[in-house]
Amino acid sequence: MKTAAVIGAGFGGLALAIRLQSAGIATTLVEARDKPGGRAYQWERDGFTFDAGPTVITDPNCLAELWKLSGRDIADDVELLPVSPFYRLMWPDGTVFDYSNDDAALARQIGALNPEDIAGYRRFLDYSAEVYREGYEKLGHVAFLDFGSMIKAAPRLVKSQAWRSVYSMVSSFVKDEHLRQALSFHTLLVGGNPMTTSAIYALIHKLEKDGGVWFPRGGTHALVRAMVAQFERLGGIVRLNDPVTAIDTLGDLATGVTTASGWHGDFDAVASNADVMHSYKALLSQSARGERGAKALAKKRFSPSLFVVHFGIRGTFPGIPHHSILFGPRYKGLLTDIYEHGVLAKDFSLYLHHPTVSDPTLAPEGCSSFYVLAPVPHLGKLPVDWAEVGPVYADRILDHLEATLIPGLRERLLTSFHYTPQDFAQDLNAHLGSAFSLEPLLTQSAFFRVHNRDDRIPNLYFVGAGTHPGAGIPGVVGSAKATAALMLDDLRRS
Ligand SMILES: Cc1cc2nc3c(=O)[nH]c(=O)nc-3n(C[C@H](O)[C@H](O)[C@H](O)COP(=O)(O)OP(=O)(O)OC[C@H]3O[C@@H](n4cnc5c(N)ncnc54)[C@H](O)[C@@H]3O)c2cc1C
Repeated sequence: MKTAAVIGAGFGGLALAIRLQSAGIATTLVEARDKPGGRAYQWERDGFTFDAGPTVITDPNCLAELWKLSGRDIADDVELLPVSPFYRLMWPDGTVFDYSNDDAALARQIGALNPEDIAGYRRFLDYSAEVYREGYEKLGHVAFLDFGSMIKAAPRLVKSQAWRSVYSMVSSFVKDEHLRQALSFHTLLVGGNPMTTSAIYALIHKLEKDGGVWFPRGGTHALVRAMVAQFERLGGIVRLNDPVTAIDTLGDLATGVTTASGWHGDFDAVASNADVMHSYKALLSQSARGERGAKALAKKRFSPSLFVVHFGIRGTFPGIPHHSILFGPRYKGLLTDIYEHGVLAKDFSLYLHHPTVSDPTLAPEGCSSFYVLAPVPHLGKLPVDWAEVGPVYADRILDHLEATLIPGLRERLLTSFHYTPQDFAQDLNAHLGSAFSLEPLLTQSAFFRVHNRDDRIPNLYFVGAGTHPGAGIPGVVGSAKATAALMLDDLRRS
């Protein structure tokens, strides 16, 4: 029986491990932390449950496939609850927009902002459907290993005007500035600046519109636990709390992995779901390939980080939907501060997560759990000491929420803590504390991203946000499909 090791139990690592084990490869998943999930870690504090990262679950079919491979049903392991509206968007001028896939409700709201934009929105949806078909359905789970594959995709990219930014493309369809922001902010969910990320990412609209937005009962980590259950049921082995310290190599081949506890395993193939820079720089530090890979990555642009405040409060808030975006007074200027200038601006745009409105069991009875996040520059652009800045910034954000959305927040507060770029770097080995790995620019996509199989070590593979197609759950689960196809093909032939 062929064997494989997967380093890291993020969504990408878990999806890959399930695919390999389903295909009869004896797979061992080795995770550094005490719980699986990576960015989708979960904490229990004072009776409240807090998911660390992803909360907007789209394209449930890409997850269900991981069960179908072995003839099972995802619903046996986790319940996905529909979320509607998908998001509530709010601006300082009092404009409120509920985004969903209810066409009549959307047309009514768009008409109230600018009647001409109703037709523009419909044209935008057609565009979104086209890039979804070309970019996601056809290319989202196929590895780009050589330049030829990029050339083949070029006509599609040209047809979709992929060189334009999402914001520029959206602006060609609708005129109202609120709508332009409402239809372009989604790239932030995968680490991209709407002003510079390729218009191809407009596909996220189609993804949400067709597949809906979902939330696992028990929180996103319930989905992680379900994936672990599916993997172990198939016979896969999970090692937690044991960071890999080296990917062992002999000549041009990976031979296995060694961990901090001193454990060593020999494998026919090794895949890393850990941060791509960490994988090359630290795990392959003993090989020339590691040094070269790290040098090449150091020249690339990494996505910003996030600052997240988790808090549990007394009271329930049925009027606050599951997902809200509170836009600040500036859009482009704020994005430039974060992505280019490395400035922690006075104003902020916030995402507010309110899971207890969908699943009250995530807080003690009569209470609510929330998290609020602000995109912030990564540590390379803003090398501040977050142990000092964090508490001040958290206070500013909570003050803002108290003034705008949750009156009496401080008096109601039962528990709170925050998560900073330094935590991303320490807990997840994330280069520069980036929340999403490599920035999803056209020049860092597909062939120009870290390849799903290493160019020099033919039995070393990558999966997760740093590889093709990129960050976000559908992205990293798609990367697992691309990487599994390569691995299975190679393992069958070896
Ligand atoms: C706050 C936040 C909110 C987000 N919201 C959404 C959302 O709503 N919807 C969405 O689709 N996406 C969202 N994303 C993006 C999404 O969460 C990520 O892109 C995705 O989860 C990354 O998965 P991954 O497979 O790349 O692995 P990661 O989650 O990065 O996991 C990598 C794993 O590797 C482990 N590891 C690292 N080094 C080692 C080592 N040496 N040995 C062993 N293990 C190691 C880490 O501990 C970790 O468990 C969000 C991200 C964040 C941070």
